[in-house]
Amino acid sequence: MKRVYSGIRATGRLHLGNYFGAVKGMLELQSKYDCIFSVVDLHTITVPYDPKTLKDSVRNVLLDYLAAGLNPEKCKLEIQSKVPQHTELAYYLSTIYPVSRLEDLPTYKEKKAQYPKYVNMGLLYYSVLMAADILLYKAELVPVGIDQEPHLEVAREIARKFNSMFGDTFPEPVRFKTPGEYVPSLSGKGKMSKSVEGSYINLTDDVSVIKQKLAKVPTDSGKTGGDLPKEGGVASLFALLKLFEMENEYEKFEKDYKDKKIQYSLLKEALSNRIYETLFEIREKRKEFEGNSELVDAIIKESVEQCLKEAAKTISEVRQKMGL
Ligand code: ADP
Repeated sequence: MKRVYSGIRATGRLHLGNYFGAVKGMLELQSKYDCIFSVVDLHTITVPYDPKTLKDSVRNVLLDYLAAGLNPEKCKLEIQSKVPQHTELAYYLSTIYPVSRLEDLPTYKEKKAQYPKYVNMGLLYYSVLMAADILLYKAELVPVGIDQEPHLEVAREIARKFNSMFGDTFPEPVRFKTPGEYVPSLSGKGKMSKSVEGSYINLTDDVSVIKQKLAKVPTDSGKTGGDLPKEGGVASLFALLKLFEMENEYEKFEKDYKDKKIQYSLLKEALSNRIYETLFEIREKRKEFEGNSELVDAIIKESVEQCLKEAAKTISEVRQKMGL
Protein backbone atom coordinates (compact mmCIF):
# COMPACT_ATOMS: atom_id res chain seq x y z
CA MET A 1 0.00 0.00 0.00
CA LYS A 2 1.23 3.51 -0.85
CA ARG A 3 2.93 5.32 2.04
CA VAL A 4 2.02 8.91 2.88
CA TYR A 5 3.99 11.29 5.13
CA SER A 6 3.50 14.88 6.20
CA GLY A 7 4.37 17.10 9.15
CA ILE A 8 3.61 20.41 10.77
CA ARG A 9 6.02 22.45 12.86
CA ALA A 10 5.28 22.94 16.54
CA THR A 11 5.22 26.71 16.41
CA GLY A 12 1.67 27.35 17.58
CA ARG A 13 -1.87 26.21 17.09
CA LEU A 14 -2.96 25.24 13.61
CA HIS A 15 -4.42 27.92 11.38
CA LEU A 16 -6.59 27.98 8.27
CA GLY A 17 -3.53 27.71 6.00
CA ASN A 18 -2.35 24.53 7.71
CA TYR A 19 -5.89 23.17 7.58
CA PHE A 20 -6.65 23.82 3.91
CA GLY A 21 -3.12 23.25 2.62
CA ALA A 22 -2.12 20.18 4.62
CA VAL A 23 -4.70 18.73 7.04
CA LYS A 24 -7.51 18.49 4.45
CA GLY A 25 -5.19 16.39 2.30
CA MET A 26 -4.24 14.22 5.30
CA LEU A 27 -7.92 13.62 6.05
CA GLU A 28 -8.58 12.54 2.48
CA LEU A 29 -5.61 10.17 2.37
CA GLN A 30 -5.86 8.53 5.79
CA SER A 31 -8.66 6.22 4.66
CA LYS A 32 -6.90 5.16 1.47
CA TYR A 33 -3.21 4.72 2.27
CA ASP A 34 -0.67 3.89 4.95
CA CYS A 35 -0.21 7.33 6.51
CA ILE A 36 2.21 8.83 9.03
CA PHE A 37 1.55 12.39 10.18
CA SER A 38 4.13 14.10 12.30
CA VAL A 39 4.72 17.04 14.58
CA VAL A 40 8.11 18.09 13.28
CA ASP A 41 9.67 19.59 16.40
CA LEU A 42 13.22 19.29 15.07
CA HIS A 43 12.25 21.78 12.38
CA THR A 44 10.77 24.06 15.05
CA ILE A 45 14.11 24.68 16.76
CA THR A 46 15.78 26.18 13.69
CA VAL A 47 14.17 29.56 14.49
CA PRO A 48 14.12 31.35 17.88
CA TYR A 49 11.91 29.38 20.31
CA ASP A 50 11.31 28.83 24.02
CA PRO A 51 12.50 25.41 25.29
CA LYS A 52 10.11 25.73 28.25
CA THR A 53 7.04 25.78 26.02
CA LEU A 54 8.15 23.52 23.17
CA LYS A 55 6.49 20.41 24.63
CA ASP A 56 3.21 22.33 24.98
CA SER A 57 3.45 23.43 21.37
CA VAL A 58 3.96 19.82 20.27
CA ARG A 59 0.91 18.83 22.29
CA ASN A 60 -1.14 21.62 20.76
CA VAL A 61 -0.46 20.40 17.24
CA LEU A 62 -1.31 16.83 18.25
CA LEU A 63 -4.58 17.97 19.79
CA ASP A 64 -5.41 20.00 16.70
CA TYR A 65 -4.61 16.99 14.49
CA LEU A 66 -6.96 14.77 16.48
CA ALA A 67 -9.62 17.49 16.71
CA ALA A 68 -9.50 18.06 12.95
CA GLY A 69 -10.25 14.37 12.40
CA LEU A 70 -6.95 12.53 12.06
CA ASN A 71 -7.90 9.11 13.29
CA PRO A 72 -5.27 6.97 15.04
CA GLU A 73 -7.08 3.87 13.84
CA LYS A 74 -6.43 4.94 10.28
CA CYS A 75 -3.06 6.69 10.50
CA LYS A 76 0.03 6.86 12.68
CA LEU A 77 0.88 10.04 14.55
CA GLU A 78 4.53 10.79 15.11
CA ILE A 79 6.61 13.23 17.13
CA GLN A 80 9.70 13.70 15.00
CA SER A 81 12.25 13.98 17.83
CA LYS A 82 11.08 10.66 19.28
CA VAL A 83 12.33 8.88 16.16
CA PRO A 84 16.10 9.54 16.13
CA GLN A 85 16.48 7.89 12.72
CA HIS A 86 15.28 11.16 11.14
CA THR A 87 18.51 12.92 12.06
CA GLU A 88 20.61 9.87 11.32
CA LEU A 89 19.24 9.57 7.79
CA ALA A 90 19.49 13.34 7.30
CA TYR A 91 23.22 13.14 8.00
CA TYR A 92 23.74 10.34 5.48
CA LEU A 93 21.73 12.23 2.84
CA SER A 94 23.57 15.48 3.52
CA THR A 95 26.78 13.86 2.29
CA ILE A 96 25.38 13.53 -1.23
CA TYR A 97 23.79 16.98 -1.64
CA PRO A 98 25.41 20.33 -2.56
CA VAL A 99 25.40 23.25 -0.10
CA SER A 100 25.00 25.77 -2.94
CA ARG A 101 21.57 24.35 -3.81
CA LEU A 102 20.38 24.66 -0.20
CA GLU A 103 21.43 28.31 0.01
CA ASP A 104 19.15 29.06 -2.94
CA LEU A 105 15.92 27.74 -1.40
CA PRO A 106 13.14 30.30 -0.74
CA THR A 107 12.37 29.22 2.86
CA TYR A 108 16.04 29.54 3.83
CA LYS A 109 16.20 33.01 2.30
CA GLU A 110 12.92 34.06 3.95
CA LYS A 111 13.95 32.87 7.43
CA LYS A 112 17.36 34.48 7.02
CA ALA A 113 15.64 37.78 6.30
CA GLN A 114 13.15 37.27 9.17
CA TYR A 115 15.80 36.37 11.79
CA PRO A 116 19.09 37.87 10.54
CA LYS A 117 20.80 37.11 13.87
CA TYR A 118 19.71 33.46 13.90
CA VAL A 119 21.12 32.03 10.69
CA ASN A 120 22.20 28.57 11.81
CA MET A 121 23.27 25.30 10.20
CA GLY A 122 19.93 23.68 11.07
CA LEU A 123 18.11 26.27 8.99
CA LEU A 124 20.28 25.54 5.97
CA TYR A 125 19.84 21.82 6.64
CA TYR A 126 16.03 22.16 6.82
CA SER A 127 15.24 20.60 3.47
CA VAL A 128 17.74 17.76 3.89
CA LEU A 129 16.01 16.87 7.15
CA MET A 130 12.64 17.19 5.43
CA ALA A 131 13.83 14.86 2.67
CA ALA A 132 14.97 12.42 5.38
CA ASP A 133 11.58 12.72 7.12
CA ILE A 134 9.81 11.58 3.96
CA LEU A 135 12.37 9.08 2.65
CA LEU A 136 12.77 7.42 6.05
CA TYR A 137 9.29 6.00 5.51
CA LYS A 138 9.68 5.66 1.73
CA ALA A 139 6.63 7.87 1.33
CA GLU A 140 5.34 8.47 -2.18
CA LEU A 141 2.67 11.06 -1.45
CA VAL A 142 3.08 14.18 0.71
CA PRO A 143 0.01 16.31 1.51
CA VAL A 144 1.50 19.81 1.99
CA GLY A 145 0.81 23.34 0.79
CA ILE A 146 2.35 24.77 -2.36
CA ASP A 147 4.99 26.61 -0.28
CA GLN A 148 6.65 23.25 0.31
CA GLU A 149 7.10 22.38 -3.38
CA PRO A 150 10.76 23.54 -3.56
CA HIS A 151 11.57 21.30 -0.57
CA LEU A 152 9.86 18.35 -2.19
CA GLU A 153 11.95 18.94 -5.29
CA VAL A 154 15.02 18.61 -3.04
CA ALA A 155 13.64 15.33 -1.65
CA ARG A 156 13.21 14.01 -5.19
CA GLU A 157 16.71 15.09 -6.20
CA ILE A 158 18.16 13.41 -3.14
CA ALA A 159 16.19 10.20 -3.77
CA ARG A 160 17.39 10.12 -7.40
CA LYS A 161 21.00 10.77 -6.43
CA PHE A 162 20.95 8.15 -3.69
CA ASN A 163 19.37 5.58 -6.01
CA SER A 164 21.95 6.23 -8.72
CA MET A 165 24.88 6.05 -6.28
CA PHE A 166 23.82 3.15 -4.07
CA GLY A 167 21.09 1.27 -5.94
CA ASP A 168 17.33 1.59 -6.05
CA THR A 169 16.11 2.46 -2.54
CA PHE A 170 13.74 5.43 -2.40
CA PRO A 171 10.61 6.40 -4.38
CA GLU A 172 10.49 10.01 -5.60
CA PRO A 173 7.80 11.66 -3.45
CA VAL A 174 5.16 13.92 -4.98
CA ARG A 175 2.94 16.53 -3.39
CA PHE A 176 -0.73 15.73 -2.82
CA LYS A 177 -2.52 18.94 -3.76
CA THR A 178 -5.65 20.34 -2.13
CA PRO A 179 -7.90 23.14 -3.43
CA GLY A 180 -6.56 25.30 -0.55
CA GLU A 181 -2.89 24.79 -1.35
CA TYR A 182 -2.18 28.49 -0.77
CA VAL A 183 -4.06 30.49 1.87
CA PRO A 184 -3.01 34.15 1.83
CA SER A 185 -2.12 36.15 4.92
CA LEU A 186 -4.76 38.35 6.56
CA SER A 187 -2.30 41.21 6.14
CA GLY A 188 -2.60 40.80 2.39
CA LYS A 189 1.13 40.16 2.09
CA GLY A 190 2.47 36.64 1.61
CA LYS A 191 0.98 33.45 3.03
CA MET A 192 -0.84 32.81 6.27
CA SER A 193 1.80 31.54 8.72
CA LYS A 194 2.02 30.63 12.41
CA SER A 195 5.24 32.55 12.72
CA VAL A 196 3.88 35.82 11.32
CA GLU A 197 1.71 37.63 13.86
CA GLY A 198 -1.47 39.11 12.39
CA SER A 199 -1.41 36.76 9.41
CA TYR A 200 -3.59 33.92 10.64
CA ILE A 201 -6.87 32.63 12.10
CA ASN A 202 -6.50 29.56 14.32
CA LEU A 203 -8.87 26.62 14.05
CA THR A 204 -9.91 27.12 17.66
CA ASP A 205 -10.36 30.91 17.65
CA ASP A 206 -13.51 32.24 19.24
CA VAL A 207 -15.94 34.17 17.04
CA SER A 208 -15.00 37.46 18.72
CA VAL A 209 -11.31 36.79 17.99
CA ILE A 210 -12.08 35.93 14.36
CA LYS A 211 -14.03 39.18 14.07
CA GLN A 212 -11.17 41.21 15.58
CA LYS A 213 -8.69 39.59 13.23
CA LEU A 214 -10.82 40.15 10.13
CA ALA A 215 -11.51 43.74 11.20
CA LYS A 216 -7.76 44.39 10.81
CA VAL A 217 -7.58 43.08 7.22
CA PRO A 218 -6.66 46.15 5.15
CA THR A 219 -9.24 47.09 2.51
CA ASP A 220 -9.84 50.08 0.23
CA SER A 221 -12.46 52.85 0.08
CA GLY A 222 -14.91 50.40 -1.52
CA LYS A 223 -15.16 52.72 -4.52
CA THR A 224 -12.33 51.31 -6.62
CA GLY A 225 -14.45 49.30 -9.05
CA GLY A 226 -13.18 47.10 -11.88
CA ASP A 227 -11.85 43.58 -11.49
CA LEU A 228 -11.09 42.15 -8.05
CA PRO A 229 -7.45 42.71 -7.01
CA LYS A 230 -5.10 39.70 -7.20
CA GLU A 231 -3.22 40.55 -4.02
CA GLY A 232 -3.63 42.56 -0.83
CA GLY A 233 -6.24 42.40 1.94
CA VAL A 234 -9.26 42.47 -0.37
CA ALA A 235 -7.88 39.54 -2.37
CA SER A 236 -7.35 37.62 0.91
CA LEU A 237 -10.97 38.21 1.95
CA PHE A 238 -12.30 36.93 -1.37
CA ALA A 239 -9.94 33.93 -1.21
CA LEU A 240 -11.44 33.06 2.18
CA LEU A 241 -14.99 33.37 0.84
CA LYS A 242 -14.04 30.81 -1.80
CA LEU A 243 -12.34 28.44 0.67
CA PHE A 244 -15.41 28.47 2.89
CA GLU A 245 -17.62 27.75 -0.13
CA MET A 246 -19.56 31.00 0.13
CA GLU A 247 -20.31 31.15 -3.60
CA ASN A 248 -23.44 33.30 -3.28
CA GLU A 249 -21.71 35.83 -1.05
CA TYR A 250 -18.67 35.79 -3.36
CA GLU A 251 -20.82 36.71 -6.36
CA LYS A 252 -22.77 39.35 -4.45
CA PHE A 253 -19.71 41.09 -3.00
CA GLU A 254 -17.83 40.82 -6.30
CA LYS A 255 -20.73 42.62 -8.01
CA ASP A 256 -20.79 45.25 -5.24
CA TYR A 257 -17.05 45.71 -5.71
CA LYS A 258 -17.48 46.27 -9.45
CA ASP A 259 -20.38 48.64 -8.78
CA LYS A 260 -18.20 50.60 -6.31
CA LYS A 261 -20.56 50.02 -3.39
CA ILE A 262 -19.00 47.13 -1.49
CA GLN A 263 -19.35 47.27 2.31
CA TYR A 264 -16.43 45.35 3.75
CA SER A 265 -17.97 45.32 7.23
CA LEU A 266 -20.81 43.15 5.89
CA LEU A 267 -18.43 40.83 4.08
CA LYS A 268 -16.28 40.45 7.20
CA GLU A 269 -19.33 39.80 9.39
CA ALA A 270 -20.65 37.03 7.09
CA LEU A 271 -17.19 35.51 6.73
CA SER A 272 -16.48 35.49 10.50
CA ASN A 273 -19.74 33.73 11.21
CA ARG A 274 -19.14 31.12 8.51
CA ILE A 275 -15.59 30.39 9.68
CA TYR A 276 -16.77 30.01 13.26
CA GLU A 277 -19.66 27.71 12.33
CA THR A 278 -17.53 25.55 10.02
CA LEU A 279 -14.96 24.98 12.75
CA PHE A 280 -17.55 24.12 15.41
CA GLU A 281 -16.91 20.37 15.35
CA ILE A 282 -13.14 20.80 15.54
CA ARG A 283 -13.47 22.99 18.64
CA GLU A 284 -15.81 20.51 20.31
CA LYS A 285 -13.59 17.53 19.53
CA ARG A 286 -10.54 19.36 20.79
CA LYS A 287 -12.18 19.90 24.16
CA GLU A 288 -12.81 16.14 24.42
CA PHE A 289 -9.18 15.28 23.72
CA GLU A 290 -7.91 18.06 26.01
CA GLY A 291 -9.84 16.39 28.81
CA ASN A 292 -8.39 12.96 28.10
CA SER A 293 -4.60 13.23 28.37
CA GLU A 294 -4.17 9.53 29.03
CA LEU A 295 -5.82 8.60 25.76
CA VAL A 296 -3.66 11.08 23.82
CA ASP A 297 -0.50 9.75 25.53
CA ALA A 298 -1.45 6.18 24.68
CA ILE A 299 -2.15 7.06 21.04
CA ILE A 300 1.26 8.67 20.65
CA LYS A 301 3.12 5.92 22.45
CA GLU A 302 1.68 3.21 20.25
CA SER A 303 2.07 5.19 17.03
CA VAL A 304 5.67 6.13 17.75
CA GLU A 305 6.56 2.50 18.53
CA GLN A 306 5.31 1.47 15.09
CA CYS A 307 7.15 4.35 13.42
CA LEU A 308 10.40 3.35 15.15
CA LYS A 309 10.13 -0.13 13.67
CA GLU A 310 9.58 1.19 10.15
CA ALA A 311 12.41 3.71 10.55
CA ALA A 312 14.86 1.04 11.75
CA LYS A 313 14.23 -1.01 8.59
CA THR A 314 15.13 1.87 6.26
CA ILE A 315 18.20 2.88 8.27
CA SER A 316 19.54 -0.65 8.25
CA GLU A 317 19.09 -0.84 4.45
CA VAL A 318 20.74 2.57 3.94
CA ARG A 319 23.74 1.75 6.15
CA GLN A 320 24.27 -1.50 4.36
CA LYS A 321 24.03 0.13 0.90
CA MET A 322 26.39 2.95 1.91
CA GLY A 323 28.92 0.43 3.21
CA LEU A 324 28.69 1.52 6.82
P1 ADP B 1 3.64 27.67 9.31
O1 ADP B 1 4.24 28.42 8.14
O2 ADP B 1 2.31 28.19 9.66
O3 ADP B 1 4.55 27.57 10.51
P2 ADP B 1 4.37 24.98 8.67
O4 ADP B 1 5.65 25.46 8.05
O5 ADP B 1 4.45 24.20 9.91
O6 ADP B 1 3.36 26.20 8.83
O7 ADP B 1 3.59 24.14 7.56
C1 ADP B 1 2.74 23.07 7.90
C2 ADP B 1 1.92 22.68 6.70
O8 ADP B 1 0.94 23.66 6.43
C3 ADP B 1 2.73 22.54 5.40
O9 ADP B 1 2.18 21.48 4.67
C4 ADP B 1 2.48 23.83 4.68
O10 ADP B 1 2.61 23.71 3.28
C5 ADP B 1 1.05 24.11 5.10
N1 ADP B 1 0.79 25.54 5.08
C6 ADP B 1 1.32 26.46 5.90
N2 ADP B 1 0.86 27.68 5.62
C7 ADP B 1 0.01 27.52 4.56
C8 ADP B 1 -0.80 28.42 3.82
N3 ADP B 1 -0.83 29.70 4.11
N4 ADP B 1 -1.54 27.91 2.81
C9 ADP B 1 -1.54 26.59 2.52
N5 ADP B 1 -0.80 25.70 3.20
C10 ADP B 1 -0.03 26.15 4.21
